[in-house]
Amino acid sequence: MTMRRIIAAACLMLCAAFGPAHPALAQEDARAMLTRAAEAMGGLERLQGLHNVVYTGFGQRAYFQGGGNITGDALAPTKWQALADVQRTFDLSDDMLPGGRALYQERWGQEFPFAGLFGMDFPRRETLQTRDQVLDHPLSALLAALHRGTTLGEVTEEDGLLVVRFTLSMTRTPAWIGIDPVTNLPRFTRWVAPHTNLGDLTTTAWFSGYLPFAGVQLPMGLMQVLDWRDQVNLMFQIDSYRVNVPAEQLPRFPLPMAGRPAPAPRAEVTRLAPGVWDVRVNGAGGAVVEFANRLVMFEAYGGEAQTLLRIDAANRLVPGKQVEAVIVSHHHFDHTGGLRAALSRGLEVISHRGNEGIIREMAERPAVHFPDALSRHPHPLRFIPVDDQMVLEDATRRLELYRVIEHSHMPNAVFGYLPAERILLEGDLADEAWQLHWWGSAYAANIRHYGIAPETNVPVHGAGPIPMTQVFANTRRQIEAAGEYCRTAEARGRFVMGCPVQYNVDGATTLEPR
Ligand SMILES: [Zn+2]
Repeated sequence: MTMRRIIAAACLMLCAAFGPAHPALAQEDARAMLTRAAEAMGGLERLQGLHNVVYTGFGQRAYFQGGGNITGDALAPTKWQALADVQRTFDLSDDMLPGGRALYQERWGQEFPFAGLFGMDFPRRETLQTRDQVLDHPLSALLAALHRGTTLGEVTEEDGLLVVRFTLSMTRTPAWIGIDPVTNLPRFTRWVAPHTNLGDLTTTAWFSGYLPFAGVQLPMGLMQVLDWRDQVNLMFQIDSYRVNVPAEQLPRFPLPMAGRPAPAPRAEVTRLAPGVWDVRVNGAGGAVVEFANRLVMFEAYGGEAQTLLRIDAANRLVPGKQVEAVIVSHHHFDHTGGLRAALSRGLEVISHRGNEGIIREMAERPAVHFPDALSRHPHPLRFIPVDDQMVLEDATRRLELYRVIEHSHMPNAVFGYLPAERILLEGDLADEAWQLHWWGSAYAANIRHYGIAPETNVPVHGAGPIPMTQVFANTRRQIEAAGEYCRTAEARGRFVMGCPVQYNVDGATTLEPR
């Protein structure tokens, strides 16, 4: 055993013996451990004297943090976003901010067919990052933890690593650094953030492949894993670091936003038929349907505020009747962004049976660090599964629910149909804003399969209800645009996921022999 190993082993015992019970000792311990990590990375003075560090690289990020896969099954294939031409510039000169600030620039595209050119054309994006947004790299995290305003907590042991808990002065939520007791290098950092679907979401960022750059040890591999399903959220390979880059080579940091508040969103209510309304907020929503004793709402889209606005607007429609159930078309995190909010009002949830697992996970996760409507008003989930079809019916109303077929974007989905009113309620079967359509046969296939005859479509996405003739005109245009996109890409020697387009408005296209 080397001397360093003996010290580490002694520390493990010490930490186990004293740990959180002796806060003063814990503070001292934590600071000593972080200082050792700084020494291992190149020396505390050197790290604190850095003006900037720039890294470049490429990788993959999980679309919707794993909540955008084709189904909510934990073993459904992850949809990845490709990240290319990434440059992250840490400005470490400003001592006002613990951990400095970073300008994150990337190009991204979807590694799956997407409904807009914006998901395919690798647009350049940039984000200004501060506070806990820079805790995902060991250098900025260590500087943040050692910042004079940061409160250090206890030291614990986890799988052979020494873990220091700390709290930034302005965030008040805990964060952690895991240090390898042999190398003293940071092995991971961890922090908590609010998530509309998942409540408190804890991310662990893992670091591998440290190499020296101008005397500073920096990791070449970054991986992020969530505390939900152990979902890998980021896989990133760094291909260069530059330390103390001359100012003229650096990107310009955007000025902080002046902060003109956006106008408060409002629920827009449109009456479609007696006892049937469209209720939407910010271009997304769905129908509210009256029954003898209650109202039923389609979709809990967007987030908490959006969904509560829709529920409140619906509850004002008929004296004495309240929304008591929500139909969830499919599990995608935008379509279930208000699920926890709906549960906080005690709504029962109706969806395809295959979505029960992921919906239960969303319903049961805690929101302690970032309380939300559900943690303030807890309600157990009541889930009503739909298999192939189900009818909600009483003396006043018949609402048929059907399982969506022929749909590669959401195999576990349902749509609604009001036969008397000839109104169809759907999410992601049609969207007037889509530029490209890759599952263009789905709408007509479902109409044929279930022998229904809708005249009006009430989509989740869009300005509101539209006639079926318009839905099919949109779909034809979107399929044609996808075909054109594929032909253009192929002419440049690029073969894109989803190309060639497999469906036209009537069904699968004819195969060419190959
Ligand atoms: Zn959607």
